[in-house]
Amino acid sequence: MTDLSNSRTRDTDSLLHPYANAMALKENGVQMISRGEGIRVFDDTGKPYIEAMAGLWCCGLGFNNAELIEAANEQMAKLPYYHIFSGRSHETALELAEKIKALAPGNMARVLYQSSGSEANDTQIKLAWYYNNARGKPQKKKLLSRMKGYHGVTIASASLTGLPYNHRDFDLPLDIVTHLRTPHHWREAEAGESELEFSARLARELEETILAEDPETIAAFIAEPVIGAGGVIVPPEGYFEAVMPVLEKYDILMIADEVITGFGRTGEWFGSQSFGYVPNSISMAKQLTAGFAPLSAVAIREDMASAIEENTGKIGSFGHGFTYGGHPVSCAVGIRTLEIYERDDIPGHVKRVSKRFAAHLDRLADHPLVGQARHAGLMGALELSPDGSTRMFDRPMLTGAKVAAELTARGVICRAIGDSLAFCPPMIITEAEVDELFDPVEDALNAAHDWAR
Ligand code: PLP
Repeated sequence: MTDLSNSRTRDTDSLLHPYANAMALKENGVQMISRGEGIRVFDDTGKPYIEAMAGLWCCGLGFNNAELIEAANEQMAKLPYYHIFSGRSHETALELAEKIKALAPGNMARVLYQSSGSEANDTQIKLAWYYNNARGKPQKKKLLSRMKGYHGVTIASASLTGLPYNHRDFDLPLDIVTHLRTPHHWREAEAGESELEFSARLARELEETILAEDPETIAAFIAEPVIGAGGVIVPPEGYFEAVMPVLEKYDILMIADEVITGFGRTGEWFGSQSFGYVPNSISMAKQLTAGFAPLSAVAIREDMASAIEENTGKIGSFGHGFTYGGHPVSCAVGIRTLEIYERDDIPGHVKRVSKRFAAHLDRLADHPLVGQARHAGLMGALELSPDGSTRMFDRPMLTGAKVAAELTARGVICRAIGDSLAFCPPMIITEAEVDELFDPVEDALNAAHDWAR
């Protein structure tokens, strides 16, 4: 029999955990997850949990999909590794790229592969720079993103990220990025300002920033259609409609970071479709393989692709690529994942079941510990507050962590982002399972409310 307490101590003796307080973990131990089934995972004592974050926003098809396991096994046996460098290719990379092009909005012309969302966004920056050099605009290099936007943790993508804890003591962000105001109406709007007025103000602030920096120096603006890891912040009405013309006016690329929102999460194939705009390029990952294998992709439009390709002709090569970008096993899983999304109409399913999901969140907005409920498709959050207003807790982050812990004890894994509780369950969740997920939430809020007072 496994000695559980021993394996928990061994863990912190050998692993440095992402997004964790190592000193607290040493004291409290880690939670070991051993297996998965449908929308649930089981810990090492056999206790089941509804995984209301789909892992890290990625396991859209749950935790034991037999078809994905079969696709990986078949490819592993046939060609476990090959690359697409230096004029070589393989069927799985090609077939998946064709599928991505067919599904993505904006007539995307070419697909580049990486292994993670961070690498996809790092690649986006390099593409924007290379493209602007290729088209004779070498000054156009600066990047715009938003506070609370999350774009990854490599040096460049962490610089795009607008969250202090991703910068602190890492000497980041690099000064290539300017962060704009978070498009969070509830928290950032002035008294009496409508969502449309707030969106118009954000577009004005964007234009003022561009003019102050000099439009000839700005390459790209990156945005998630719905901010995910920054707290599930749904854009205010008219936001992208107001922002897009400003970017077009100053010849600035719009990069859609669809690492979470891609492939059905918002009820359309892509989040940018839910919010009615067409980006110049798209970063995708997570749901591309339903989390079963590491893979990310960047899709770019024809104008960018042809300028880049012509430049490789001039300088002799495109000096970029990752050993595992387009890994055959990941691509085979990706192909099967997209086939399942299409066959089972997963975006349509999300659209239907998300009504139930939204109703639960909206109901919980009346709880005295909840300031705001937010949702888009099957992404949602409850922002906690001491009195249901926009007021923050005197001691931030503790209440969010407390409610998340109370929920875990009641068999639901969600994520505390500061004092917001995020929910992003597998996209296959049924209405009955949505009810089960939310059943213990009120109880967990009550327990934390008593503790907070
Ligand atoms: N972009 C977005 C929108 C994300 O949510 C994430 C991860 O959560 C990333 C980029 C980074 O992806 P990865 O953790 O695979 O590097």
